[in-house]
Amino acid sequence: MLQQSLPSEITQLKPADTDGRIQIAREKLGKDLIILGHHYQRDEIIKWADFRGDSLKLSQIAGEHPEAKYIVFCGVHFMAESADILTGPDQAVVLPNMSAGCSMADMANIDQIEDCWESLAEQTDITRVIPITYVNSTAALKAFVGKNGGACCTSSNARKIVEWALERGDKLLFFPDQHLGRNTAAQLGIDPESEMLVWDPHAANGGVNAKAIADSRVYLWKGHCSVHARFTTAQIEQARRDVPGVQIIVHPECSLDVVQAADAAGSTEHILKLVTEAPAGTKWGIGTEINMVSRLARECPDKSIFCLDPVICPCSTMYRIHPHYLLWCLESLVNGEVVNRVRVPDDVATHARVALERMLAIS
Ligand code: SF4
Repeated sequence: MLQQSLPSEITQLKPADTDGRIQIAREKLGKDLIILGHHYQRDEIIKWADFRGDSLKLSQIAGEHPEAKYIVFCGVHFMAESADILTGPDQAVVLPNMSAGCSMADMANIDQIEDCWESLAEQTDITRVIPITYVNSTAALKAFVGKNGGACCTSSNARKIVEWALERGDKLLFFPDQHLGRNTAAQLGIDPESEMLVWDPHAANGGVNAKAIADSRVYLWKGHCSVHARFTTAQIEQARRDVPGVQIIVHPECSLDVVQAADAAGSTEHILKLVTEAPAGTKWGIGTEINMVSRLARECPDKSIFCLDPVICPCSTMYRIHPHYLLWCLESLVNGEVVNRVRVPDDVATHARVALERMLAIS
């Protein structure tokens, strides 16, 4: 579904007028509405959020509020899909801007995954391969793993899910983020050089040979996050030179060398907890999206907090949720029109729910 153009009377509104109308619409919707805000959203959006969190936490919150008729998800498309899967049929999940996708999620589609699976099935015992999808993926991919004995994972529980999978099979197919898969498997002692391969969906046979398929325990999908790919070991070295005593924490969507050069790695929730609970006066160089790092710096003025990337790159798709879009969808709801509803077809949702619930049971 494409995003329709907003009326010019909205796009021409000044920030204060936009805020005033959002406030009025929100009050009119009352308990029928909850607004969810992902940590990577800009401040002008996050201030309206009833709940802040990472993608899974927000979807779970949505599921815990059956009284809410409308769940406005200020995040990206796959998150709204997960919220739709975990909420009731009478609840509408709304994404304020339909063009807010995720470049990583777009790096694996269901046709490519099925082709890869068929190809692997010709070359190895596919019954011993467990598919794992990061939640940053379309509902169709979640349904695929649900149907094929696998599970979803998040950056918080990836280790537990990979351990679970390796108890059930000999090998994993991990998509769409190669870095989270590699970092997690490496933590468990699996050698990235000799026991992992990268499957390139654009190359013949994934760009790998039969020996690599036979020898590898972890098949990684060639996908990445364009925001976290920007962090480098050179930035970490520079931060350590410039800021004596700095502690470096990065997101596990960063590459293995960056994760290994950092003092810690973890999900957005882990980063928030570690930094907010750290003693006053501590110094933190953080490798994740700039909106979250800047907000953390403002909310923890007793600490020195900065982003490792000096060029400062927000997640461009998260950034598409502008206050004008939030206003437009809220006023439409007030007028009885549900715009930008994200709906996962029942047959897909049924299997995707299996993968999500399996993950929740394991973690
Ligand atoms: S930060 Fe990366 S993984 Fe997260 S929504 Fe943006 S592109 Fe996708």
